[in-house]
Amino acid sequence: MDFEAFFKSELEGLHEEGRYRVFADLERQQGNFPRATRYTKDGQHDVTVWCSNDYLGMGQNASVIEAMKSTIDHCGAGAGGTRNISGTNHYHVLLERELADLHGKESALIFTSGYISNWATLGTLGQKIPGLIIFSDALNHASMIEGIRYAKCERVIWKHNDLKDLEAKLAAADPKAPKLIAFESVYSMDGDISPIKEICDLADKYGAMTYLDEVHAVGMYGPRGGGVAEREGLMDRLTIIEGTLGKAFGVMGGYITASTALCDFIRSFASGFIFTTALPPALAAGAVASIRHLKTSQIERFAHQERVRRLRSMLDARGIPHMPNPSHIVPVMVGDASKCKWISDILLDNFNIYVQPINYPTVPKKTERLRITPTPLHSDADIDHLVGALHQLWSRCALARAVA
Ligand code: PMP
Repeated sequence: MDFEAFFKSELEGLHEEGRYRVFADLERQQGNFPRATRYTKDGQHDVTVWCSNDYLGMGQNASVIEAMKSTIDHCGAGAGGTRNISGTNHYHVLLERELADLHGKESALIFTSGYISNWATLGTLGQKIPGLIIFSDALNHASMIEGIRYAKCERVIWKHNDLKDLEAKLAAADPKAPKLIAFESVYSMDGDISPIKEICDLADKYGAMTYLDEVHAVGMYGPRGGGVAEREGLMDRLTIIEGTLGKAFGVMGGYITASTALCDFIRSFASGFIFTTALPPALAAGAVASIRHLKTSQIERFAHQERVRRLRSMLDARGIPHMPNPSHIVPVMVGDASKCKWISDILLDNFNIYVQPINYPTVPKKTERLRITPTPLHSDADIDHLVGALHQLWSRCALARAVA
């Protein structure tokens, strides 16, 4: 086989469909969030980032940076091994305690990313629990889907956020089979929120465990940043709460929180946990500082929610269509892969506004969009600039407008 020709022709297909991914070459400006320097062949440009998952700007928070710097000073750069073989640093232990406390669980287990925490946990449960059936929401993240596939256990996909469909599928399954319902709180591309209480009620009725991915909610919802389940007083109804340290907490890594027995089981059997180098201690220390900060400070959460409301009302005033949802994610709908990419390119090149286009397969075809994520640090002027630019481009692209 001519491998090179194969790779090139596959990539050509992506180009033709307008969904070839081009990464913006950015350098985040410390102390100047959400600004970044963009490097192009013409030189350097200051851009405003409108699609960061550092939702609250904690990646540049002074206490987080100080914790990371001082930990590098006294622990060095890397962890030096897997968790089992010399890599467990005191900061990993502190972080796991902090996370268990955040979600009101007995224990926590950290992984190198949220992706791995989903993949390793669901994969291990599905492989090891004899006869387990995993009921997975149709819009679950790729990391959950891949974990369930890897497990090779029985999986049942239920219609997104559809309780009737979930119940019908639970009722149709063997009543004696062990079951697990896997779902998210805030869905990352549409920004809708799942009916956690009702799903837990169904889980109780059918004797299922619950697995909730709160990756897009931890740090941002709930009085201590414990996520939507904390806000709704439901943390104790969930068997496993999974989250990331890489979005609102501003650092990197993933985790689960659950009973001590369950965490110990995953710790002992999950290859994605066992056979990989532990997170650098400085990352763990930065995460501890970030979680502690957001457990007590409401300032970032309130400012964030206010910015989201302001952006939405400005978009409405200009008739720019955006998907209504109860979260902080503002999907501005384009509905065409090439136009979506064109708008994103012009925003970057002509307006110094960076919003990555979101195309298939991340979202279904004809629902291509700009996924805009305001942060507490976007100013009124930033919002005016973004909405003004979108307004111009909507006219140039002859795109449908929302009925204002
Ligand atoms: N779950 C969901 C719902 C996600 O959107 C993502 C990443 N975008 C992940 C898990 C993976 O988290 P991480 O980026 O920490 O790997």
